[in-house]
Amino acid sequence: ARKFFIGGNWKCNGTLEEVKKIVSMLNEAEIPSENVVGTQILSLSLLISGLHAGCNFIHIVLVSDAVAGIFPLIFDVVSRPFVGCNFVHIVLVSDAVVGIFPFFFAEVVVSPPFVFLPLVESSLRPDFQVAAQNCWVRKGGAFTGEISAEMLVNLGIPCVILGHSERRSLLNESNEFVGDKVAHALSVGLKVIACIGETLQQRESGSTMAVVAAQTKAIADKVSNWANVVLAYEPVWAIGTGKVATPGQAQEVHLELRKWLHDSVGAEVAATTRIIYGGSVNGANCRELAAQPDIDGFLVGGASLKPEFADIIRSLT
Ligand code: 13P
Repeated sequence: ARKFFIGGNWKCNGTLEEVKKIVSMLNEAEIPSENVVGTQILSLSLLISGLHAGCNFIHIVLVSDAVAGIFPLIFDVVSRPFVGCNFVHIVLVSDAVVGIFPFFFAEVVVSPPFVFLPLVESSLRPDFQVAAQNCWVRKGGAFTGEISAEMLVNLGIPCVILGHSERRSLLNESNEFVGDKVAHALSVGLKVIACIGETLQQRESGSTMAVVAAQTKAIADKVSNWANVVLAYEPVWAIGTGKVATPGQAQEVHLELRKWLHDSVGAEVAATTRIIYGGSVNGANCRELAAQPDIDGFLVGGASLKPEFADIIRSLT
């Protein structure tokens, strides 16, 4: 199963004070997630993991009493040693369980503007990751104003958004340029959220699939290993407009994209690559979209700055 992926693209928004508030809001939100916690809990987990001998990987999940109450079957038994501890239950689950409940263990990545990246990276809860919103197309050097992929790696930033439609249209980033950027970022070890999507005019003229296939092909031409790529389908007409694609419209394109990947790249890549949707996703419309079989998560703009982002993360639970 493909693990549900939620990205929050903060775009060019936020003051220092606002950024701190958003981080606090996320840190305090009750969101069950796969969690790699600090060494103090790690030693505890190693102790208890004896109960789970045979698990390949150990996932530690922190859940509140409320969540444990909703899923008593999963949590009560495992959290029994912790009865008496207020609010937080520590649950150890195997890869197999994560596979059965992929939605429950959404991967969450937030993307603040460059200047706030180190602050957010160091103060955000450990189960969420950060992403940059862009990076330079090749190794750094005499490229005034640019930030290289190597610098992101050096700072411990694991992920980058590339090819966003705002950069394609406002800064004239071509399909080939985006393909080169994706390839370079992957080559230095970054995860990439690669954005594609058609304009309203292209949709109305019936060329949606041709447009997104050409954008994807420019990436596929340069990339052989897709393990660290998340494809974000963001129809331009739905971005920041409040005009969300219907679940049917989004599912149709996602399915076509998966078929394209199958035919042009390979069956394995088509089956495993997350294709996420972006464009006016909010707390009210996320559940119906998330229920579509080929929608593997969201890239959220405006709503990622608000408390409803937590609802979007929980959209499949
Ligand atoms: P909105 O969610 O504000 O429409 O933005 C979507 C987007 O562009 C995310 O990258």
